[in-house]
Amino acid sequence: MLFAFALLSLGSWLGRLAYAYQDLSDETLKKLPGPGDDFDIKKGSILAPILVPRVSGTEGNAAVRQHFVDFFKTHLPEWTISLHNSTSTTPVSNGKEVPFVNLIATRDPPGTAEGDVSRLALVAHYDSKYTPTGFIGATDSAAPCAMILHVARSIEAALAKKWAATPDDDLDAEHRGVQILLLDGEEAFKSWTDSDSLYGARALAEDWETSFHMASSTYRTPLDSIELFLLLDLLGSKGPKVPSYFKTTHWAYKHMANAEQRLRKLGLIKSSPNHDTKMAKRENKKPRAERPFLTEAAKGDDAFLGGFVQDDHVPFMARGVEILHIIPSPFPQVWHNIEDDGEHLDMDTVEDWTKLVMAFTAEWMELDGFFDAPAKKLTVDAEKSEFEIP
Ligand SMILES: [Zn+2]
Repeated sequence: MLFAFALLSLGSWLGRLAYAYQDLSDETLKKLPGPGDDFDIKKGSILAPILVPRVSGTEGNAAVRQHFVDFFKTHLPEWTISLHNSTSTTPVSNGKEVPFVNLIATRDPPGTAEGDVSRLALVAHYDSKYTPTGFIGATDSAAPCAMILHVARSIEAALAKKWAATPDDDLDAEHRGVQILLLDGEEAFKSWTDSDSLYGARALAEDWETSFHMASSTYRTPLDSIELFLLLDLLGSKGPKVPSYFKTTHWAYKHMANAEQRLRKLGLIKSSPNHDTKMAKRENKKPRAERPFLTEAAKGDDAFLGGFVQDDHVPFMARGVEILHIIPSPFPQVWHNIEDDGEHLDMDTVEDWTKLVMAFTAEWMELDGFFDAPAKKLTVDAEKSEFEIP
């Protein structure tokens, strides 16, 4: 990532005003499932397989991608998976083409046509940095990838239930889906430049710009179909502070900040001094000061000065996609440091982010009242989870 300070002239994108969004009830917020052992850094079925070096073009990178494919095939067969391939030379590849493979998982309402669904995109990069040798990148971005997988698995039953309960003509009117983009080649190999960084994101945004849906479609291209590009990066260290970077999506940031505040009030934020388990042990039940992750809910319109962080959203933003960038400023202390590994994650904070992103996604998809069933427990049979990459 690189800090840039620039004024954007993207033109305002106010075309899509029919945003639906429905707060979850307190009851539902309390029911949102935590990841349990699945985030164990040694043997957890979701996170542990990602906590390995996974530089683009290496075996480690392919193995992590296979883990994602297995996860969807095993637990989320309703999701459509595709791989987006591109190649590029890098400053360290000696003229050789390195493959970059993005994974795209899509869940649209049943019976809807490809070009008629607007999607919330949950995005993180899964490659790890070339240097220092052995770099894991737990916050960058193994943990965000794990968060997204757990969110997908946790909302699937509610999504299916909601769609089954929705009359077909309402579904027609609604057309909202979820898309997961796990991007490759975010990291620079040598030092961050326009050509040495964002390999996967640049190739995907460019290809999607000219991948046209049928002429009768509501949305022209897969880029137009993205209602909000929610990018998670550098999450998992204690005490993050995430500003609101973009004026045009500040409304979405405020929704997420509101969800955070409500989760805190309900004692559901594990890293908070007021989490219900800590409260129960404390004699003085007076709530202590909260330190919110999202610090700029009250930011005024004229306080947006154009500073932002270079990351996977850039090629999408340049093509008019609306971005909500959830990345702390300042970056975590372990950033691009060999210590950014599983042991240095603050697991309470990882779980808190997961719950918050889950709440936001569930509110976006208006899933209140559909979380009645307890979440499926994940049991992966490592032996049998060999799937062909489509
Ligand atoms: Zn990085």
